[in-house]
Amino acid sequence: MNILQIIFKNAGKQSRTRKPVDRVPFPVDFRGELTHDALQCTLCGTCTYVCSPAAIEITRDEGDMGYWDYDAGRCTFCGRCVEYCPTKALTFLQNSAPIVSMRSLERTSHVVEYQHCTRCGATIIPIPHETLIRLYHSEEAAKKATEVHNLCEKCRNRLHSQILKSGISGSKD
Ligand code: SF4
Ligand code: SF4
Repeated sequence: MNILQIIFKNAGKQSRTRKPVDRVPFPVDFRGELTHDALQCTLCGTCTYVCSPAAIEITRDEGDMGYWDYDAGRCTFCGRCVEYCPTKALTFLQNSAPIVSMRSLERTSHVVEYQHCTRCGATIIPIPHETLIRLYHSEEAAKKATEVHNLCEKCRNRLHSQILKSGISGSKD
């Protein structure tokens, strides 16, 4: 069979080339582009601790904000940071990580704003509400807990000792 015969034979057949819409779907647990939700992040540092290639860096500023920095060029997409992040601030998207032309474009920097203790005004990063719901298993319990979690460590300890003292003195009566 010569080349012309092959061309004529194949001309009548359907194309077997995949169109972009026929893309094979990514598996559910695909480790694609890493995303970070600064509103859920408490700058706890767990992700930096578990990241072997040091792709994540945390900077806690003296002022009103801290920084979460990620270098996709160092990331091996092992998934440990996503697995260990206590607030679920990190997730993998269902797409392949973007290919960029410059090394600097592989770096992402997010600002995490501090908040203030509702009693003394000290800077804190409270546990996000979504995490409290997961911890307390209900929206209502999480709302009650927010009051305590919006305090700094010192004020929280003071509050707990006050509750303890009033409980002890109440039981003596
Ligand atoms: S992304 Fe998660 S693990 Fe990393 S600092 Fe923020 S809260 Fe902690
Ligand atoms: S996926 Fe792995 S290598 Fe990438 S930032 Fe997270 S812990 Fe580090």
